[in-house]
Amino acid sequence: MYTNESTKYPSTTDLGQRSRILVVEDEELIREMLILALEEEGYGVVTASEGRSAVEYLKSFDPTSGELPFDLVILDLMLPQINGLDICRLLRYQGNPVPILMLSAKGSETDRVLGLEVGADDYLTKPFSMRELVARCRALLRRQRLSSLPQLPVLQYGDLTLYPQECRVLVRSREVALSPKEFRLLELFMSYARRVWSREQLLDQVWGPDFVGDSKTVDVHIRWLREKLEQDPSHPEYLVTVRGFGYRFG
Ligand code: CA
Repeated sequence: MYTNESTKYPSTTDLGQRSRILVVEDEELIREMLILALEEEGYGVVTASEGRSAVEYLKSFDPTSGELPFDLVILDLMLPQINGLDICRLLRYQGNPVPILMLSAKGSETDRVLGLEVGADDYLTKPFSMRELVARCRALLRRQRLSSLPQLPVLQYGDLTLYPQECRVLVRSREVALSPKEFRLLELFMSYARRVWSREQLLDQVWGPDFVGDSKTVDVHIRWLREKLEQDPSHPEYLVTVRGFGYRFG
């Protein structure tokens, strides 16, 4: 019934440090299967077999620092002592934003709705495959990671606007299509307006230290950017050549 099929998945845990998952489940067999599948994915797993110890584990949440002891909680609905719904309610009441994946043997719509209503982020009905469970965990962790990323400020210079998060650039209120390298180059320039960069520095920053090739690559990309951004590419206002040194923005 509970098959561990997670082996064929490419792992995405290298996106950051190892995520910590608290598994709250009273059925030993399912608990063991969950540990196996999640550890194989590279997650750090802590388990609780009833509600009270789960609450104890989760207590160390400090709302002032926002530090979470776990990145995700997998919470069974029917538990001895304190049930999953009450734990969920309690966590949200305390302002704890940890993502919660609720498990239930009941497949009824009311349970699902109730689970989500008390603050669970996702809901899985038993029996489920470990593959499905791992995919849901991964999605919740990804969402969590994205929402905790700092917001990048919009860069504005003259009639250029660059939206770092959306990878969009507006020139004189019109959107221009840039290649990823052109975008990174422009983002770097706009982040340090008037700073002079050598071709080698630009290669290092945008193409990376492992790039094998000629610094002419930079000149070619600058030319393409000028054609897309400048009103008169032969007399650039934005991407200015600094003779003997390299390039400057603005
Ligand atoms: Ca149970």
